Amino acid sequence: MLELLDLRFLGEEQLFCAYLLDLDDGFTLVDPGPLTTLSTLESRLAELGLKVADLRHLLITHIHFDHAGAAGALVAANPRLRVHVSERGATHLVDPERLERSARRLYGDMFDVLWGEVVPVPAGNIEVVTERVLGLECFAAPGHANHHVCFMNEEGTLFAGDTVGVCWPPSRYVLPATPPPDVDLEAWHATLDEIERRVPDALALPHFGLVEEPEEHLDVFRRRLMLWAEIVRRGANAREFVDEVSRDIDHETAKFSELTDLLRHSYLGLKRYWTKVADSA
Ligand SMILES: [Zn+2]
Repeated sequence: MLELLDLRFLGEEQLFCAYLLDLDDGFTLVDPGPLTTLSTLESRLAELGLKVADLRHLLITHIHFDHAGAAGALVAANPRLRVHVSERGATHLVDPERLERSARRLYGDMFDVLWGEVVPVPAGNIEVVTERVLGLECFAAPGHANHHVCFMNEEGTLFAGDTVGVCWPPSRYVLPATPPPDVDLEAWHATLDEIERRVPDALALPHFGLVEEPEEHLDVFRRRLMLWAEIVRRGANAREFVDEVSRDIDHETAKFSELTDLLRHSYLGLKRYWTKVADSA
């Protein structure tokens, strides 16, 4: 069983979602989403006859607030919850102060509106992931974030986190999300190779939904990631970058990317990446 739970982030449908799995080990959520959509998450669970107390596991692809912001509050509500996360990610969940500081720099006044309070996860609830997690394959997937992992179930659905971009239906436009501070293009290409090598049947995107033609999506994503990176490498400033990449984005996708300030953040992340590359040369 795989259920998509629309978190209705900022009241918008089909913007952010979490995935519910009914595993041998109990009900499991992949990326529970931000704290600000916790009550919506509870409503989605209630529609399926479930409560937070019925959940047994959280699988976290990466610890950015739009993916794991609700983890601490969920554990507070259900202390039996096991939180599966990479080793590097775990340190931020247990002690989120540094992560919060850097995110507040990026989001400014919008931080509280978008993400709400930051609740740490007790160390005792953390399970550092290995190659198999609750019957799913788990592998390192750096690029978007250095601590990012992906999970793939036996049915061939790959829980991709933000490694393959965002795509808000009904649009099929694929946008890279390349926020600071960790963007690493070389690692990202290797991650995309790892995903392609597994020939997934579907990609489960937190932003948003199941992609049933993974090959085409991966191909478009990889090319667009390279294109965006090249625009920044050529020396575009933030405005020029946003103008150039916005040109062929449809209206709805542009609206959603503005809500999360995705284009400006993506510029900053790529800029930081190229500065690091230049500094290490
Ligand atoms: Zn995200």
